Amino acid sequence: MNYKAGDLIKVKTKEGVYKGTYIPRKGNSIVIKLESGYNIGIDKNKIDNISLVRKQKKIKQKKEKIKQNNKLPTISILHTGGTIASKVDYRTGAVHSEFSPEEILRMFPELKEIANIRSRLIFQMFSEDMGPEHWEILAKEVKKEIEKKVDGIIITHGTDIIHYTSAALSFMLQNLPIPVLLVGAQRSSDRGSSDASLNLINASYFISKTSFNGVAICMHENTEDNSCLILPGTKTRKMHTSRRDAFKAVNDIPIAKVDYKKNIIENIKKIKENNESLISNIGFEKKIALIKIRPGFSHKELEFYKNYKGIIFEGTGLGHLAVSVLDKHTKEHKKTLDMIKKLSKKIPIFMASQCIFGRVDMNVYSSGRDLQEAGVIALEDMLSETAYVKLGWLLSFEKNQKKIKELMLKNIAGEISERTQLNEFL
Ligand code: GLU
Repeated sequence: MNYKAGDLIKVKTKEGVYKGTYIPRKGNSIVIKLESGYNIGIDKNKIDNISLVRKQKKIKQKKEKIKQNNKLPTISILHTGGTIASKVDYRTGAVHSEFSPEEILRMFPELKEIANIRSRLIFQMFSEDMGPEHWEILAKEVKKEIEKKVDGIIITHGTDIIHYTSAALSFMLQNLPIPVLLVGAQRSSDRGSSDASLNLINASYFISKTSFNGVAICMHENTEDNSCLILPGTKTRKMHTSRRDAFKAVNDIPIAKVDYKKNIIENIKKIKENNESLISNIGFEKKIALIKIRPGFSHKELEFYKNYKGIIFEGTGLGHLAVSVLDKHTKEHKKTLDMIKKLSKKIPIFMASQCIFGRVDMNVYSSGRDLQEAGVIALEDMLSETAYVKLGWLLSFEKNQKKIKELMLKNIAGEISERTQLNEFL
């Protein structure tokens, strides 16, 4: 096959003749985009003949020179991939990421009035492929941008794990002098239904007007295409697979609401001044576990973690797991408790809740009390994902068990709130 992406080809099989744009794909089928817009795969073994109708047309794009405006703030956009900075090439159906400042301004011309844009590609990946090593690289890149004295940083990021990355940056870089906003999109930038543009422009507008300093996530407030919320970096979670307003603050309230079209920034939280200098503490211990408890959880599963450095349980309800022996089917539960007792002598073990909203309280029921006696520590209202990131970060520089337990319960980057407010639920 000597065809190139975008060539118009004709494929003949016994069932019929198909004309469409060639989309290179691995595997046993030839994929073409039909004029109707549908992509079809045709089994290579069923093809009698393929012919070229027309070579792909080259599209020339004019290079526009970017003018600096000294009256505007400077924002650095660091791209990590995901849907936000990508657009679908309708000739081939492929998704391309665009990351040069020229491209960004061509795609989002409103930004020209808001800030001088710098832009760098750090990674080009879906966020589910990211891991702690990427957080470390990203934290170092953010630090570099801060040293260049930019007024704010936007990190474009896949949405799946954006809240893990925001938590990691919140711990690794404390006392930030500027806003660092993570921005994602559920639909790619050139689709009519895309949320990319509003998220990115609102994030830039917020940076250009605010005195907020710290890590936050900027995403749609609701299903309308108007306002975005600036959400706390350690207390936010993806709560829907596809909605543009998938991100919600958990056990906390948003920092601000932004609507650049109406020139509105409404601070929901009080914005604190920061006169302290930046603390950067970049590292992550990967040998830690985040274990979701479920009915049927067995002590045998814990065996696997015996050489780990720390465990976070995502327990049921107020922070429970099956440790009570009540009938012949629950006899094994004692072994789970014994195993936890043994493990907790060596490594720190913590409890968050899979309820997501609310506070862990292990004093109410006997299983909670038994677990505490066995050494498990309740993590207040910390999100389990944030707890995972915090523990990995802490273990990268702190080896003293007592200190680790103390620091896990100390609010370092907004991850624990003292009191639960009524308005902190969906
Ligand atoms: N799984 C993808 C990611 O998290 C989804 C695309 C997106 O959200 O940008 O990168």
